[in-house]
Amino acid sequence: MKFSTKAIHAGQQPDPSTGAIMTPIYQTSTYVQEEPGVNHGYEYARTSNPTRTALEELLASIENAQYGFAFGSGMAAIDAITRLLNPGDEVIATADIYGGSYRLFTKVVERYGIKFHFVDLSNPENIKQYINEKTKMIWLETPTNPSLQIIDIKGIKHFTPTQITIVVDNTFASPYLQNPLELGADIVIHSGTKYLGGHSDVISGCVMLNDKKMAEEIKFIQKSVGGVPGPMDVFLVMRGIKTLAVRMERHCDNAEKIADFLVNHPKVAKVNYPGLQNHPNHLIAKSQMKRYGGMMSFELKDDSKEAAVSFLKKCKLFSLAESLGGVESLISHPASMTHASIPKEERQKAGISDSLIRISVGIEDIEDLLAELTSALA
Ligand SMILES: *Cc1c(COP(=O)(O)O)cnc(C)c1O
Repeated sequence: MKFSTKAIHAGQQPDPSTGAIMTPIYQTSTYVQEEPGVNHGYEYARTSNPTRTALEELLASIENAQYGFAFGSGMAAIDAITRLLNPGDEVIATADIYGGSYRLFTKVVERYGIKFHFVDLSNPENIKQYINEKTKMIWLETPTNPSLQIIDIKGIKHFTPTQITIVVDNTFASPYLQNPLELGADIVIHSGTKYLGGHSDVISGCVMLNDKKMAEEIKFIQKSVGGVPGPMDVFLVMRGIKTLAVRMERHCDNAEKIADFLVNHPKVAKVNYPGLQNHPNHLIAKSQMKRYGGMMSFELKDDSKEAAVSFLKKCKLFSLAESLGGVESLISHPASMTHASIPKEERQKAGISDSLIRISVGIEDIEDLLAELTSALA
């Protein structure tokens, strides 16, 4: 089956007893047993729940994976992966990583004797000098936030010994645009809060993978640690995924037009969008992604916080907010919002100038989005 068909049907059959076409929300914590050990496959809902089972089969299917696991948030999914590590292990991660992952790795996981190296991996060869016998995991994000760098997943795989686990946070691309397991990754994670849910109404996360032994470990961690989603949230994510393909096509259509508009605007200094020919890794993006996604960032010629703030204040359809991947367009100012706690010098090394503005392009009518950008930049 192809993507949209799987997105609508995988893991989901009409309810045999009522004919309900949508998977019921099994709002229950426990299940009656006929006698000890004799049950219908469900005993207690932290371990499993039929609504969650449907989502987990769906998640595996859309990443072309053998196994899928749903979590209560993207961070809970990421936390579960870090629990595959032991004291003394080392991890090499993309420098330009999601702030919440950076915080979890450096403030929580490092306390357990695990070391993280944050490395610019836009050239995959950079990884070589950090690999040693303690290296257990490579943590990639591509495209990255907010500078929209592209990491060559196949290239990283080429320089990584097979016993090291490669994890890709595929949140920015979504499974519709990029399938890292097919490019050499061992584990994919998503914040389902973003494109999978797609409507800014649920916090969720997931893990997809092919290796049976690792899947058993994740299942064990999921039930032991308990970072599981409730059935109502699971339902919302399943409902979101049904329209992922059509939403992503529209996000990409709108983003390509906005990128062209910004590139040609006299007040804009630089546009970061992997779909642009002059993006440093445009050809890698072209080979590993179906299209280039709905996220972009740009800098103003007047590279000051004041210029950025004055622009942001004139935007209305583009709501000022963190997060991304919903049907509505969102806009943010990383230097004073998501990345405010990073010292200015380090921020600039990561490509976050004072005027950098990030947009999550929504699926509104493009004419209205362009009209607003035109007047906000005037
Ligand atoms: C939002 C996000 C996360 C964290 O997910 P939550 O659902 O907010 O816990 C992780 N990685 C990326 C790239 C994200 O954008």
